[in-house]
Amino acid sequence: MSVNVEIKSYPLFINGEWIASEANRTFDVVNPANGELVAKVASGTKKDVDRAVEAATAAFEQDEWREMAPKERSKILYAIAQKIMENAEELVGLEAISSGGTVRRLGSNDVLQMVDLFQTLGKFVIDYTYSETLPSPPFPGPAHNFIWREPIGVCAAITPWNMPMLIASWKIAPALAMGNTIVIKPASYTPLTTLRLAEIISEVVPPGVINVVTGSGKEVGEALATHPKVEKIAFTGSTEVGRHIMSLASNTIKNTTLELGGKSPSILLEDADLSLALPGSLFGVFLHSGQLCESGTRLFVPDKIYDHVIDGLKELSEKLVLGNPLDLATDMGPVISETQKESILSYIEKGKQEGARLVCGGQEVKVEGCEKGHFIAPTIFADVTNDMTIAREEIFGPVLSVIRYSEVEDAVRMANDTIYGLAAGVWTADVNKAYKVVRKLRAGVVWINDWHMLRNDAPFGGYKQSGIGREMGRHSLDAYTQVKHVHTSMVPEAERRTWYSLLFSNQS
Ligand code: NAP
Ligand code: MG
Repeated sequence: MSVNVEIKSYPLFINGEWIASEANRTFDVVNPANGELVAKVASGTKKDVDRAVEAATAAFEQDEWREMAPKERSKILYAIAQKIMENAEELVGLEAISSGGTVRRLGSNDVLQMVDLFQTLGKFVIDYTYSETLPSPPFPGPAHNFIWREPIGVCAAITPWNMPMLIASWKIAPALAMGNTIVIKPASYTPLTTLRLAEIISEVVPPGVINVVTGSGKEVGEALATHPKVEKIAFTGSTEVGRHIMSLASNTIKNTTLELGGKSPSILLEDADLSLALPGSLFGVFLHSGQLCESGTRLFVPDKIYDHVIDGLKELSEKLVLGNPLDLATDMGPVISETQKESILSYIEKGKQEGARLVCGGQEVKVEGCEKGHFIAPTIFADVTNDMTIAREEIFGPVLSVIRYSEVEDAVRMANDTIYGLAAGVWTADVNKAYKVVRKLRAGVVWINDWHMLRNDAPFGGYKQSGIGREMGRHSLDAYTQVKHVHTSMVPEAERRTWYSLLFSNQS
């Protein structure tokens, strides 16, 4: 694939229009595969956030949007899906040249997942339970009671650079499905697809329903997390920034959803089919060069087959092709930045220093035609113990730690011995054995003989410090609503209202 990079300047997207930032500053978006400038993007300010929140508030106050019939809303979600499909090639190209994701993954997975997400929620909004009627008890007196689901209001989303358009969609789709309005701050490495997505979506929703303010986390992100008119904040990113956002959001008591980091364990049982489990384990950790939050970064392998597994993993890893993400033959693209590359290399050094055995990779790689890119060879460490830094901290790069065990109970205990709980996996020929292990694993998603298989109709989110709340599926619709209890008394006479005696002692 080739992408025609005409260096564009992007203003902010507010109230259905491209609007200049009040500060007139920009930041550069650079292709991590070759260091080329891709775009200049407006660096928004607190005042820009105010403008976007104002537009989102005005749009939310319109009955036309908030009180729309589910059937109409469903049509809108399907129309968005259609528009994403029509613009798929452009979105995939923009995302590849900014995030370093391969067009093979983006084109055959991410963009189709987005289409399916909007369609799935388009289906769910039709039969969603917007209102429940409660039974009327005879005491203290007959009444009609309802529970209504209502939109929350203005929602803010702060998203990371690894899967920018998909993760933005995980927030935009349920927010719009439930009648909210949204202001998004994309990661500064990768704002382009979110901006384009907002433009596409705004063709079918009223102005102000979707807004994008680009700029730094410190300025734009914090302004959103503290804005009194933002009633919900949905954040995906590192646990460290997540903690900070949670504390900022506490001031105005915002409804908060956090999707954070992971150090996901994958447990290989002795009876596993290695022809499946070995490529599966590498698929679990090296997809997108290890920059996926639910990557399987700790692999637990039984003593008896340990050496054999290490040999097999090494052989398969060494076949992976690093290259330009635009080339369909590329298996692994670059990591996002120089800083991220340095951070990954320093974790690799630490692994060696702490006594892990480097089996393959471990170094930066120069790719022909992409000399200024940040490529790291798929790296495997053997003889890792669960207390080493490379087994405890999220590296967010192509590094697998293989940990030895003798009893399955030990593997499960070590698997759970982490602050994270996003994903986990078990490889075995015996599904009954698998369920026993799955039951004990403390993670929001567990794969049996597979990895990365998320579904738009199933919830995704973390246990422990991997997050709060769930995205996708029907759970995501609940997450973008409030519940209201409505009580209608059916006792028209004051004297029959026995409960009034709680105040009036003297009723005649
Ligand atoms: P990050 O550094 O936490 O940044 C995420 C977003 O937060 C970016 O938009 C960033 O803006 C913004 N931000 C930074 N500092 C902020 C502040 N003080 N206040 C408000 N916003 C702030 O994460 P990242 O490096 O982009 O992404 C990698 C991390 O995301 C990994 O830890 C990964 O596990 C996690 N992740 C989790 C999931 C999940 O679903 N659980 C999915 C993907 C990624 P700038 O870009 O302008 O700094
Ligand atoms: Mg960061």
